[in-house]
Amino acid sequence: MNQVFLRTYKDVMRMNRLEEFASEELAEKFEALTARMLEVNDHMNLTAIREIPDIIAKHYADSLMVAKHIPHKAKIIDIGCGAGFPSLPLAIARPDLNVTALDSTAKRVIYIEETVRLLKIYNVTTEVGRAEELARDPHYRERYDFAVARAVARLNILCELCLCYVKPGGVFAAMKADASDELGDAIDAIFMLGGKLEPQDRFKLVLADGSEAAREIVLISKLKPAPRIFPRNNTLITKKPL
Ligand code: SAM
Repeated sequence: MNQVFLRTYKDVMRMNRLEEFASEELAEKFEALTARMLEVNDHMNLTAIREIPDIIAKHYADSLMVAKHIPHKAKIIDIGCGAGFPSLPLAIARPDLNVTALDSTAKRVIYIEETVRLLKIYNVTTEVGRAEELARDPHYRERYDFAVARAVARLNILCELCLCYVKPGGVFAAMKADASDELGDAIDAIFMLGGKLEPQDRFKLVLADGSEAAREIVLISKLKPAPRIFPRNNTLITKKPL
């Protein structure tokens, strides 16, 4: 494998205290994912992050920072997965997980489907659909141990999109740069959807050049089933957030 990629990958993982994912075997898998993503990115808008050190830090390490909150062998769903973040890094680094990657944009989901087939990532299934619609399907509603979303919507809206997927006893994690100005608005939504706000995980993501970027994972545990009226339709969710 490319030695520069390997060194950068290991350094970034170590700087972010992700030593458990710093093996050469995983680096090779992430090198293959990088090659695939950049190749497709030439003709499809997958990511604005194109430099390999930035991809390793801002996509891979950033996605893996949530791993410590996910129980062993959990069934998880990534809502609004886009080009597969955090779902693909989590599936690669945590083969114990059963990962569903959901997005409303069909071409991104087809990209993920082809990628997991080519890279032999066997623990990912994909769904095209709107989160607020699929959550009404009994095959998906309250079927997951863990739901996660990165960079999809403000927290009050995100809670309505995501909490209905989580079983009572499970957790929803919203991955943000800084959620401090969103938390106040989301308290009612969390309560109405049967959730409870847990202490947030705030940290600095260390980039390949050693600089740091603020990150926050908002953790919400699901105490009881969400009322059947949720999630509402997209117009109500966005025009009249809970
Ligand atoms: N999570 C990825 C990441 O961090 O790179 C993608 C983030 S991108 C800014 C937001 C994604 O959420 C888009 O791919 C969009 O199609 C998807 N999305 C937004 N609203 C959605 C909804 N209601 N249901 C499903 N997907 C949604």
